[in-house]
Amino acid sequence: MQLAQLITVTGEGAFQCNACQWRCRLQPGETGRCLVRVGSTKGIVALNHSLISAALVGPVEELRLWHFFPDSMVLAVGSWGYAFPADQQRGAYARLPKTPADRRELEASRVASFALKQLCRGVVWTYSEPAVAQEYALDVLRNSRAASRFTAICTSGYLTPETLESFGPYLDGVCLDLRGFGDTAYARLAGVPEWRKILEVMGDVKQRWHCHVEVLTRMHRGVNDDPKQVRELVSWIRDTLGPQTPWHVLAGDAGAETAAAVARSRRLGHENNLQFVYGPEPDQPTLCPNCQATLITRENGVTRLAGLQDNSCTSCGFAVDIFSSIFRRRAPMET
Ligand code: SF4
Repeated sequence: MQLAQLITVTGEGAFQCNACQWRCRLQPGETGRCLVRVGSTKGIVALNHSLISAALVGPVEELRLWHFFPDSMVLAVGSWGYAFPADQQRGAYARLPKTPADRRELEASRVASFALKQLCRGVVWTYSEPAVAQEYALDVLRNSRAASRFTAICTSGYLTPETLESFGPYLDGVCLDLRGFGDTAYARLAGVPEWRKILEVMGDVKQRWHCHVEVLTRMHRGVNDDPKQVRELVSWIRDTLGPQTPWHVLAGDAGAETAAAVARSRRLGHENNLQFVYGPEPDQPTLCPNCQATLITRENGVTRLAGLQDNSCTSCGFAVDIFSSIFRRRAPMET
């Protein structure tokens, strides 16, 4: 039985879980909003600890990390549980398998050794929300870094500062699934009333922990594609994470109108000085924002650094922020 690490005693026999931004207060027997944590008399039990939902070896680019150790193979792993109610309705990994026989256990140390055996340069937590598996995700990150693998998480951003503080020393990159930039968008696409804390936590990911960040937004027509909202979203990326932060704009639903919303949002990204905006089509290269020379090609699943040397464009010398060494990070800033 794994007890949750980030808890507060609240009195009257309840404990508060501080792993994600819901901060559930649980009495013994009560289940958290994530459906994978339950209150007990001793604390809060993480039911998903050391339970894996999926593990796959593949190119890091498949996880929408395109400026992060390009052309590397990674081990993508995840557990069970989401922080957002909307994901619990749609996601494949919301509920633990009912029968213990269907539950696959994989200790964090074995994740790292499997990555080594498969010649993976990195380990990326994806498939489920890392915050709701804080103890397991932390062990995976820590063991992977101890094995000199680079690490990243794909997240909704609904981590608490405490969870980020635990991950930070072992984390190199984050792919943030940013659902939009307004209350209505987050209410509809995530099912949460309050979302702005995500922006603060992600600001810390960049500024305090110096992690590489890429942002992914799926456009849903009439929900998160309002140009004013998109401009605000782009401004936040540019001003908080930096103008070289890759922004991946995908279609959240089918149809010509959504495709038009994607195209319009990409245009707004460029117009508002984001230097790397990507869309849904396959084989997109990375072009130099200064001279338009091709820096990175991606063709049929193969990525090649075509016009980059020491993180500079070989044609014009423009400096490009490609994260490619686990030794590049500076020490976290004092707060
Ligand atoms: S991880 Fe989040 S949703 Fe789950 S119990 Fe903790 S605070 Fe609640």
